[in-house]
Amino acid sequence: MDYVDLIIDSLFEHCNEDLQEILPVLSELYHFTKDYQFDEKIEVLCMKNNLCKKCFSKLTTYQEEDLIGEYMGQPAYQTLYHRVCPECGYFVPEF
Ligand SMILES: [Zn+2]
Repeated sequence: MDYVDLIIDSLFEHCNEDLQEILPVLSELYHFTKDYQFDEKIEVLCMKNNLCKKCFSKLTTYQEEDLIGEYMGQPAYQTLYHRVCPECGYFVPEF
C-alpha cells in the first residue's frame, strides 16, 4: 500500500467519513505534495457525491435545450443536463 492510500484511509477514519471535512484536507495535501493521486481522489469523491470540485458544495442540475440542427424544416433540439455549483459557479458539462 502506498502512502497516499494510507493517508486517505486514516483521514476517512479520523473524520468519520465526513466528506466536508475530508475534501478540504485532500485539497491541501494535493497543493502541498503535488501528488496527482490526491487530486484524483477528490475528483472521484466529488463525482460520486455530486459535489463541486472547487469548493465542495452540492451541485445543482439544470437542463438546456441545445440546437443541434434542423429536422424537416424545423429546428431540432437536444436536451442537455449540466451541473453547476451555486456557490462558486463551477460548471460540469453534460453527464
Ligand atoms: Zn463550487
